[in-house]
Amino acid sequence: MITLKEALKLSKEELAKFKDELKAKIEANSDINAYIDVNNLGDGVPIAIKDNIQVKDWSVTSGSNILQGYIAPYNATVIEKMLSAGLSAFGRTNMDEFAMGSTTESSFYGKTLNPHNKDCVPGGSSGGSAAAVASGLAIAALGSDTGGSIRQPASFCGIVGMKPTYGRVSRYGLGAYASSLDQIGPMTQNVEDAAILYDIISGHDKKDSTCANRNDKVSDKLNSERKLRIAVLPKHIQNASEDVKKAYALAIEALKSAGHEIVERELMDAKFDISAYYITATAEATTNLARYDGIRYGNRVVGKDLNDTFIQTRSQGFGDEVKRRILLGNFVLSSGYYEAYYVKAQKTRHLIKDQYSKIFEEVDLILSPVAPTTANKFGELSTPMEMYLSDLYTISVNLAGLPAISVPVSKSSDGMPIGLQLIANAYDEQVLFDGALSLEKEINYKK
Ligand code: GLN
Repeated sequence: MITLKEALKLSKEELAKFKDELKAKIEANSDINAYIDVNNLGDGVPIAIKDNIQVKDWSVTSGSNILQGYIAPYNATVIEKMLSAGLSAFGRTNMDEFAMGSTTESSFYGKTLNPHNKDCVPGGSSGGSAAAVASGLAIAALGSDTGGSIRQPASFCGIVGMKPTYGRVSRYGLGAYASSLDQIGPMTQNVEDAAILYDIISGHDKKDSTCANRNDKVSDKLNSERKLRIAVLPKHIQNASEDVKKAYALAIEALKSAGHEIVERELMDAKFDISAYYITATAEATTNLARYDGIRYGNRVVGKDLNDTFIQTRSQGFGDEVKRRILLGNFVLSSGYYEAYYVKAQKTRHLIKDQYSKIFEEVDLILSPVAPTTANKFGELSTPMEMYLSDLYTISVNLAGLPAISVPVSKSSDGMPIGLQLIANAYDEQVLFDGALSLEKEINYKK
């Protein structure tokens, strides 16, 4: 598959031909179920778009039954920015319902398969985007990351996935899951393409009040020769599988031989991250999902009166995982428990942020696993709790609002990809991409 950098140099005619071939290839590989819809709208470089990002006049459903029939009335800001840069929205990719999950199994459209082993999950919630790029069915894709949904599927599928600093990329037109955590980001074949797509979609937007007034770009200034001080986490990685630990050791050696300085640091026990995240995310999700009432958007199940219409619509429209989170979110926000759960989670979130700030006073980057294991088999995580616990390496980054990038590093003994993430201080995307490029080069060199 050609890279985004190469595709941006193609003529209109070459692109049109490429897109026809791509469409045929997607149809031939429909068993992967990476896309839920392909619709060659514009004449730019085709980019795969997660089904929670609005493209004007196109269906947008966040992988849910409740939004069947809903057509986006306007473009998300990231889509507007893509169009002005010569890119176009080519297909909508599969995802966990409302981006809640780590496997893409909760989608209304059925599961997406991992191209490296079709018995395995592609990760989630941006599993369709990851599988599309990994199987040569997309040049690049957009995903969204609330607690790891770009980085973890990127790691499971062997591609690059980047979550920007909170506020770098406008959320206008993104279906909200947890508004204080969500960020849209690039999912690509390599680090340079991630930097190019990041540059295109980032920047100030007056339509999103949480969007920072910063417009600095990275891709023209990429420098893999820059020597950095990188923290590793000897205690934190003890929760990972042997395969992931081996990949971690390999990456440390690669970074050392690229001339970076490695220092050891520690993070607080990840059980605090998981509690703080699942309280914060479900509280915000409950609030965001209240708007799906059968009146304003998508599907409606007509009941015997208005209240019954709300109940029937929501009971039939939402899947089990979404309902579980609505219940949990309402519980932690209820007056009797608000102080005990929600307020405590916000305090914990501050502690998590502070521990990162302290580390970043002394280092440029942190190297961390993305997931404790490689992609699991379908149905292998038997309880929701098991799935939540598997987010231990990604969610603190969202709670702290930091940028991070997952880079493929090696494969497990059974051939499944393993990505590791570099984490940078807020708004230090240049350092993040420089370090990631250096890791990518050195690891490729080793191969
Ligand atoms: N797995 C996490 C969750 O289910 C993260 C999902 C995401 O980043 N959208 O909440």
